[in-house]
Amino acid sequence: MLKHKTITFFCVSILVMMLVLSFLSEVKWWYFLLLFLFWLVMTVWGSSDIRLGYFIKTYCNNQDEKKRRIALTFDDGPHPMTEKVLEILRKHNAKATFFCIGTQIEKYPDIFKRIIEEGHTIGNHSYSHSNSFGIFSTEKVTEEILHTNTIIEQLSGSKVLFFRPPFGVTNPRIAKAILDTKHYVIGWNNRSLDTVIKEEAKILERVKSKVKPGGIILLHDTSLKSANVLEQILLFLKSENYTIVPVDELLNLPAYEN
Ligand SMILES: [Zn+2]
Repeated sequence: MLKHKTITFFCVSILVMMLVLSFLSEVKWWYFLLLFLFWLVMTVWGSSDIRLGYFIKTYCNNQDEKKRRIALTFDDGPHPMTEKVLEILRKHNAKATFFCIGTQIEKYPDIFKRIIEEGHTIGNHSYSHSNSFGIFSTEKVTEEILHTNTIIEQLSGSKVLFFRPPFGVTNPRIAKAILDTKHYVIGWNNRSLDTVIKEEAKILERVKSKVKPGGIILLHDTSLKSANVLEQILLFLKSENYTIVPVDELLNLPAYEN
């Protein structure tokens, strides 16, 4: 909450100063509007860009990375396409991190178990991945996180500590739920936009242009297009001498509770 609190404190301080001034001389009404708009823009921007860590600390890369390690993350599975992704990762001997949705784990428990058997790391990506996640109450977000944790624990025996909010959206309510349930928020600094961009070549170019040591790449294990791009990304990373590691290894954070 640090950045959000600082900006809000700053805006309230300016507001108080303007109110005091308005008793002494005229303060134009649109100065107040401008101040409010500034606060609003900062809040909306902070909600939508996970890299800012505006409401809660987020882990989006390892800035101190000295070796050429990088992490691949897959959201929104398990999904029938996950099997293809697992095959490609195995072929290239790469370990990744999968942020799974509770309802998808219920649909494809065997695929979920295979992700773990293949030695990849698991994180929580909410239960419903609802489009309304950003307007959920703290209680509802908490319920989503805990429900998915229970499903994961029943199938894997592990209590996950990593959470990635749907759409990378954060706000004070989501932040509180994450703090209450004691999770690390894992973001990214290389968003492939593989669910938005149609051409595989364009997705690949976008990812390549943002590749950096210590980086976290965001992909989805939900389409053949993403699986095809993955193979190209792996070849590129190999040619650039990168080592692919799960997020817990890259960030030196525990993925599971002991
Ligand atoms: Zn997602």
